[in-house]
Amino acid sequence: MDQDEAGFGGRRKFLSLAAATAGIASVGGAGLAAPAVVDLSARKPKREDYDVVVVGAGFAGITAARELSKAGVATLLLEARNRIGGRTFTSSFAGKRIEMGGTWVHWSQPFIWNEIIRYGLSIEESPGALAEKFSYLSAGRLHHANAEKIWRRIGEAMSAYVDVDRQGGRQIMPLAHDPLAKRDLLAKWDALTLADRMKQMKFSEEMRNLLSPQLSINCHNTLDQGGFADMLRWWALGDYDMGRMFDKLGRYGIREGMSELANRMLADSNADVRLASPVKSIEKQGDTYRVTGSQNQVFKARTVVIAVPLNVLSSIRMEPALSPAKVQMAAAGHTGHGSKCYIHIRQKIGNWFGSAPNPYPITLAWSEKHPDEGTVLVAFGPPGKLDITDEEAVQKAIRGLIPNAEVLGVMGYQWEVDPYSRGTWCWYRPGQLTQGFAELRKAEGGIFMAGADQAEGWRGFVDGAIESGITAARDARNFLKA
Ligand SMILES: Cc1cc2nc3c(=O)[nH]c(=O)nc-3n(C[C@H](O)[C@H](O)[C@H](O)COP(=O)(O)OP(=O)(O)OC[C@H]3O[C@@H](n4cnc5c(N)ncnc54)[C@H](O)[C@@H]3O)c2cc1C
Repeated sequence: MDQDEAGFGGRRKFLSLAAATAGIASVGGAGLAAPAVVDLSARKPKREDYDVVVVGAGFAGITAARELSKAGVATLLLEARNRIGGRTFTSSFAGKRIEMGGTWVHWSQPFIWNEIIRYGLSIEESPGALAEKFSYLSAGRLHHANAEKIWRRIGEAMSAYVDVDRQGGRQIMPLAHDPLAKRDLLAKWDALTLADRMKQMKFSEEMRNLLSPQLSINCHNTLDQGGFADMLRWWALGDYDMGRMFDKLGRYGIREGMSELANRMLADSNADVRLASPVKSIEKQGDTYRVTGSQNQVFKARTVVIAVPLNVLSSIRMEPALSPAKVQMAAAGHTGHGSKCYIHIRQKIGNWFGSAPNPYPITLAWSEKHPDEGTVLVAFGPPGKLDITDEEAVQKAIRGLIPNAEVLGVMGYQWEVDPYSRGTWCWYRPGQLTQGFAELRKAEGGIFMAGADQAEGWRGFVDGAIESGITAARDARNFLKA
């Protein structure tokens, strides 16, 4: 296949994965890497009755299924899409490996680091994390600056923004892995949006325009949607330091790819697996649960681990219904609704970083890969502002930050329209952390909740997904033993 056929040669063909249906493998028949796939033929369900049915084969569900099945518990993993990995999958673009969803990891994320070591994987660094040039939009003008100097200024502003207790947030959020440790003190701050907190600050217009893209990318939405408490949580996870926080959030990826890790974890489990099996209802009947799929296939189990995203939880009919607090959390959902895409430009721009405040269609972008020709940028934007299938729109948006940019191709995945994710990473709305989070995590009878969107430590991250899978498996196993 030549470069034009692959869609990222000189022909300026745009690739995107319009994810209206589950299990999309490729668009345009090109650009997708083929990670080693687990042979599932031997894993087909051989019975109707299990000890545990795990719903959802993202990292949370794969982890729970591995832990349970390796402990001798009869486990069935049901996945709606025809692939595993959930909000992660590895692809390729401009001859480089890319991640369509979850990408960056860090050794201070204990659960995923454990898996990286266990399965002998390695990490690589994103060039944008080492940017020398920084371009930003402020007051309708494009500015260029030395990246190191600008990062120092943004870091100082962020430190002031989170300093709610004259201790840099340490009093309110002393334990990143236990975000409710100071629940009473936190409640007041949890009532605020990121925008509310911004209004309390006496920043210059330029500093607002530099800091707000950082906050907007965190909640992957506009500042009036994201809760301020989650910023305190990320700050604590980032050791109360801007540089360290960024290193943990956007610097190191898994060289072999997220899909490779998911495959290795699944290969290491003894669970039966069924793909392309969306669960439509879970009903309690005496001591068992009837789990019914969209084709009306029924499996029975003594316990169920629900490992689907918060934003699609309400699509599964539960009998009896989940607790009102869980229903409320699922109805409101998390705020992660923005875009992520890769943009291949003809120019060699080195290690560059760019930012623009809302409502600009690209919030943050940086050099992510250096192929033979040009540069591959990764770009994030707010909800509904950038149609990644529209060549003209992407070109126009990136030219606002790199005026001479000539776009050769674009690739992205529309997580927002995918019925099995309905969003990107988890960031809570005001009030959700102190009012809904603890309840969301609670088991109800033989129903156990898992997923990155309700993890205790790195909530919203692959690490949190694995943490929650370990926790749910432990609790389900204890329940079965009782
Ligand atoms: C664009 C993007 C960028 C990100 N960047 C990072 C990053 O850099 N680092 C990081 O750590 N994290 C990142 N994340 C977040 C991370 O990918 C997720 O938090 C994590 O992968 C979620 O894992 P999970 O198992 O909880 O949920 P998911 O991965 O969403 O898995 C849930 C599974 O449930 C399935 N499902 C849904 N409904 C049903 C149903 N009715 N029946 C059966 N199955 C169902 C889904 O198909 C899916 O496979 C990013 C996410 C996105 C989208």
